[in-house]
Order: sequence, then structure tokens, then C-alpha cells
Amino acid sequence: MSAVPEPCLLLSFEDARHLVEHHAATQHPRGKELVELLDGAAAGAGQVLAEPVFADRNFPPFPRAMRDGYAVRASDLSQLPVTLEVVGEVKAGAAKRDIPVLQASQAASIMTGAPAPPGADAVVMVEYTTRQGDRVQITKAVAAGDNIVPAGSEAKRGERLLSPGLRLDYRAVAVAASAGKSRLLVYRKPQVAILATGDEVVDIDVPPRATQIRNSNSYSLAAQVQAAGGEPLLLSIAPDKPARLRELIAYGLEADLLLLAGGVSMGRYDLVEQILEEFRAEFFFTSVRIQPGKPAVFGRVPSGAGAPAREQVESTSAHTYFFGLPGNPVSTMVTFELFARPVIEALAGVAPRKLVLLNASLKSEIKTKTGLKRFLPAILSGEFEHAEVELAAWQGSGDVAAMVRANCYIVIPPDREQIAAGERVPVLLM
Ligand code: AMP
Ligand code: MG
Repeated sequence: MSAVPEPCLLLSFEDARHLVEHHAATQHPRGKELVELLDGAAAGAGQVLAEPVFADRNFPPFPRAMRDGYAVRASDLSQLPVTLEVVGEVKAGAAKRDIPVLQASQAASIMTGAPAPPGADAVVMVEYTTRQGDRVQITKAVAAGDNIVPAGSEAKRGERLLSPGLRLDYRAVAVAASAGKSRLLVYRKPQVAILATGDEVVDIDVPPRATQIRNSNSYSLAAQVQAAGGEPLLLSIAPDKPARLRELIAYGLEADLLLLAGGVSMGRYDLVEQILEEFRAEFFFTSVRIQPGKPAVFGRVPSGAGAPAREQVESTSAHTYFFGLPGNPVSTMVTFELFARPVIEALAGVAPRKLVLLNASLKSEIKTKTGLKRFLPAILSGEFEHAEVELAAWQGSGDVAAMVRANCYIVIPPDREQIAAGERVPVLLM
């Protein structure tokens, strides 16, 4: 068995993240499928559009009234008040033959969403009008174009409305529905194998002995994988023994991505990196200057290396990537979000995006040690423009109970020992 990779590849957070983004950019989804509009956008499904959607007509298809009132010619309103002849009423959905053509000094009663009549160039809101029989008095001027959305001004027929790589949500669904697309081509979800390791870890339906720990990581990771657009595949728990660990890693490497949890620290039974080396793994980092999550590992093995004895599965990629995430549950969660998520999104077909932190005002002073970039569970509160944040009470990286009290991380740069109350601090939402 070979030793832990040399040299120890310790990176800054930013370098590690950039490296992951670089490799993610080389990854592609594994296929496409047709789904019903709502199935593709169902909460939690988060499927990713694999085809462009074009406007099949002008948006809007006709000059559309934005207000209830009177369609007029703006030039008729130069002297106020003015009285115009009402020559008809235009309802939303009115047939073309029922729409009057407006001549000088004429107006047509019109409703929001109705087509503006030919000859009209503006709509006066009903609030500025008084109707008497077939006449209407108008007390407010309008400019040409007021309260009418010109045909094709939102999008021209044939224009691209949605691009591949967009995750389907309520906005995309509205656009697809407007263009008459009841089914959409989406990318197949990548399969992400999840392997929890540790002699002390037992599955959740087994009564744990006093010193055993229930496997929460496989489940939290599975939920995170789903949220990122992947299909989780939970493997059996691997003990800290080479033979079985090797077997399960081989199996996991047949998926589109392998996530390991635990067994990547410096302990005597942290075997994950050694076993991965046997699969000719290339390591991009084996440690990152962050807390929690310092022992995080990222690398890849040549395709097929995971299944030497098995039937070779058809592979669309030369490598299978893996992450070795530290086993402390909070570390597992944080390092997934910071590093594994972009790779899963790339495999799911999502257009790449950068990690962006927001700012909030710190409620109470933070004292910490320098050297690591910290992502500390925190509580964002306040209201409207006044976002405030404070650290959540927690007992360190094993404290999953603290994570549900938190709703974000405060991000502390590695060179800060003390941050005063009132200072604006970067925040990463959960
Ligand atoms: P490791 O990264 O293997 O050194 O594990 C670090 C800590 O996380 C230990 O206290 C483990 O008991 C705990 N741990 C490891 N794997 C899991 C898991 N799957 N679920 C919950 N806790 C875990
Ligand atoms: Mg362990």
C-alpha cells in the first residue's frame, strides 16, 4: 500500500475553489430526456434545460393596454380638459373585427390586457376621465406610447427566450408556458455515489452501541446532492479496513462522481487517500486552509480504474472525479457546498456561476485565531435593509443540532483575530 500523497497539497480557500471551478468547466451532462413542464421544475427536482426555447410569436403579440381607461391619440389631448367621442369598448381577448379604428377626436374604452385599437397611441387611466353617454371628458395629458406595451417589445418572434443550462424554476416555467412548450428537453441527472466511512458509524435503522455513531453524513449529502441537481446513490458504510473500503470505492467510481465522507484526516485509520492512490488517483488538493473542513480532498481517477474486473461501462469522460470530505457532519456539509456543488452542477448541465458572499452587520464581537478562513454557522436576522448576523452557539464540527438553528455562515478571513460589533461581515446563505 502506498503512502498518503506527497507533497501535502495544502491550498488557500480561493485557490481550492478556483481549481474545482476549473475542473467543473470540463464536465458535461450525460444525456437528455423529455419531461412535462411541471415535472422538470418540481421543487427539489431542479432539472436543467437542455434546449433553447424561442418565442413562437411576438411578446406581446399585439400592442397591449397596461391600464383600464380610454385608448386615445395623444395629440388630441394638447388642450385640457378635452371631450372625445367614445366609439367602442375593447375587452381583453377582443376579436379583431370588434376593435374600432380610432379617428381624430375619438376614444375607445379599453381594459388592461386588451389590444390597443389601430389609430390609438396611448391609454388614459380611467381615474382621469368622466364618462357621459357616448362622450368622455379627459383631464390629464398623455405622451404617445403611454400605458401601451408595443407588439414585440418584450421579445420578437424567433428570439431566444431560454438557453440550455438554465435551472427550471417558476420564472422559466412562465416563459416556457408563454411560448407554448408543454414539454421540455432537460439533462439527465448525474449519478453521485456517496460513501460514508468509519468503524464507529452505523446505519440509522440499527440500534447504535454506546460508542457508535449513526450515519448522518450519507443522508445530509444525499439531500445536498439532490438540491444541486444530482441523483444520490447511497453505498453501504465502509469500515476503516482496506479490503472492504477498496471494494466500495471501486463500486462508487462507476458513478459520475464519488463523494466520500470521513477517513481523510491524519489518523492511523484514515485510509481513504491511500486506497484512492491504488486506483491511480491524481490529487488536486488534500487539505484547504479553512475551518471547518481543512482535510478536504479533491481528485480524479482515470475512467475504468474503478471497475477493472467488471464489465466496462460506457464512459463519456476520461476521468471520474471524487471528493474526500471530512467526516465531522458540519465539515461534510460545508465542504460539499464549497467544493462538491460546482462539479455536480456542471455534471447536471447548469451554467457555471461564481460563489458570491453577501454582507450583514455583525451583532456581537467575534474573536478567533488567524491562519484559516472560517465558515462559521450563524444566524441572519433583522428586517428589510437592516440585515444583522451573529454566530450560532455550537460545539464544533460535530454539532449538527447547531446547524438547524443557523441559517447562514459568517465568513472570516484568515488574517482577522477580532471583528467588532457593527462591522459588516461577509455571509454565505445556507
Ligand atoms: P473522520 O473524518 O473519519 O475522522 O470523522 C470525524 C468525526 O465525524 C468522527 O467523530 C466521526 O465519528 C464522525 N463521523 C464520521 N462519519 C460520520 C457519518 N457518516 N455520520 C455522522 N458522523 C460521522
Ligand atoms: Mg473516520
